[in-house]
Amino acid sequence: MSADKDIGPDINDLLCAGEYAWLQNGPKGVRGLFLRAVNELDRLRAKLEAVRKIHDSLAIFDTCNHEHEDADESNGIFDVDNVGITCNKVYEVCRRCCCGGGDSQTEECLGHGHSLGKPICPTIAALEGASDE
Ligand SMILES: [Zn+2]
Ligand SMILES: [Zn+2]
Ligand SMILES: [Zn+2]
Repeated sequence: MSADKDIGPDINDLLCAGEYAWLQNGPKGVRGLFLRAVNELDRLRAKLEAVRKIHDSLAIFDTCNHEHEDADESNGIFDVDNVGITCNKVYEVCRRCCCGGGDSQTEECLGHGHSLGKPICPTIAALEGASDE
């Protein structure tokens, strides 16, 4: 599976082995419809990707109780400005909605009630089909 859950499956994720070729080489009407559907799926995925890019996430960290020697980002240990070396990711916020496109949270964002695993902003919540309330 090459599905990127952020922008949904592509056509190859939806078809079993051989089905793509079978549809592509199918009777004229079937082939036309199939190719239009593939194009439409690609178009929608491109839109989702563009929105995701604008509403990119920024991780917010706090200090942790460990004595990390060094940052090790692949193991979730980061060297964070004003915090130090930490593994304590508190939540993620939206760069666009919470940081004005910059790289630090605004005052207003502190009132958003972010938590890990929750959508970072109403736009992303809508994409994920989650309710804001
Ligand atoms: Zn730690
Ligand atoms: Zn946002
Ligand atoms: Zn926020």
